Amino acid sequence: MIISSAKPFEEILELLRNEDDIFIIGCNVCAAKLHVGGEPEVLEMCERLENAGKNVIGWVLPTAACSISSWEHLVEKNETIKDARAILVMACGSGTSVVAKVVDVPVYSTNDTTSLGGSYKGEVYHQLCEMCGNCTIEEFGGLCPTAQCPKNLLNGPCGGSMNGKCEVDCEKDCVWELIYERLKKINRLDLLEKVHEPKNHSK
Ligand code: SF4
Ligand code: SF4
Repeated sequence: MIISSAKPFEEILELLRNEDDIFIIGCNVCAAKLHVGGEPEVLEMCERLENAGKNVIGWVLPTAACSISSWEHLVEKNETIKDARAILVMACGSGTSVVAKVVDVPVYSTNDTTSLGGSYKGEVYHQLCEMCGNCTIEEFGGLCPTAQCPKNLLNGPCGGSMNGKCEVDCEKDCVWELIYERLKKINRLDLLEKVHEPKNHSK
């Protein structure tokens, strides 16, 4: 899941200061789950823009903004998109990038994209993977220190955690403590003996 958060409405309005006849494209996957691009948020954005004096000519909610099959597919869902002079994408940066490939008018994003995360039982997890291109997550019991340790320590912990919390961000659990617990649970504490070489970022 790509984690994104909604920009303040005033910021979006400022982005659109020279635009009108706006068409909105939401995202029914990550952004919907995070409540920053699903149908309720799209409808609310339509109303707020109209109240601010903007003409919103229509909207569409593809399954995923980052996976649109074609321009024709969008037109089939709502043909008013043909009259759009600007597209507002309520999705992450990759969704906005794909939309920009499909349409010939300016595109704007309502969201700030922050990390690759996930969700479980309704709880959203931020920054689970940094997409380093050289995955060794199994050596840490399935929890990634590259992404989840603020010092990116492959040979942790740093020794600064207090009561299981990270010394850099005391709101967060120290991922190395979680790695230890996880390895203990799966009987692989032997993996802690391994000295990890720096990542190969040339891959
Ligand atoms: S090692 Fe970590 S940052 Fe790299 S791909 Fe695997 S999970 Fe992502
Ligand atoms: S306390 Fe844990 S998570 Fe925080 S920087 Fe140190 S090793 Fe990394």
